[in-house]
Amino acid sequence: MFLWLLSKRRLLTRDNLVLKGWEGDPRCCYCYSLETIDHLMFRCNQTARIWDWFLHSLQIETRPHRLEDLFDIIENAGKTQALRYCCAAVLWVIWKQRNESSFNDKQCQTLSRYASDIKGLIIYWSGLWKGALKDDIMGMIQHMEPVSAQIAGRMAEDGALPLVHVI
Ligand SMILES: [Zn+2]
Repeated sequence: MFLWLLSKRRLLTRDNLVLKGWEGDPRCCYCYSLETIDHLMFRCNQTARIWDWFLHSLQIETRPHRLEDLFDIIENAGKTQALRYCCAAVLWVIWKQRNESSFNDKQCQTLSRYASDIKGLIIYWSGLWKGALKDDIMGMIQHMEPVSAQIAGRMAEDGALPLVHVI
């Protein structure tokens, strides 16, 4: 349901809520730009670094700036089906954390926390898969590098997420 709403661009980001007559603040809870789907999921500094980590781990060196870019990356990668599930986990974790930050006033997460939530969710879902697909997905998890001091340092250079605890 979440992915369907996302793919139809009907996810209730703040810009969409305003279109429905909501009178709240339409700005992103992390950086105060207008919260659109593309901003929240890809362009915000808070989330762009998650994709940097995730895609770099899988040797994909493109950064998505909008939903369609992600669909292109998935279609053009080998093991498309496995990558689709892993990307769904990234999107879901970003959305869940955004809701916590927006509505429950929870602080934004460190990159290492996002990484472990994403990996944990994929492992949790793995009971749903079988055979080659499961092998592909578990292989991708093996490739997802821990958020090392090196990565955290590299990302901190251009003002990214708060520095992380090395895992
Ligand atoms: Zn933002």
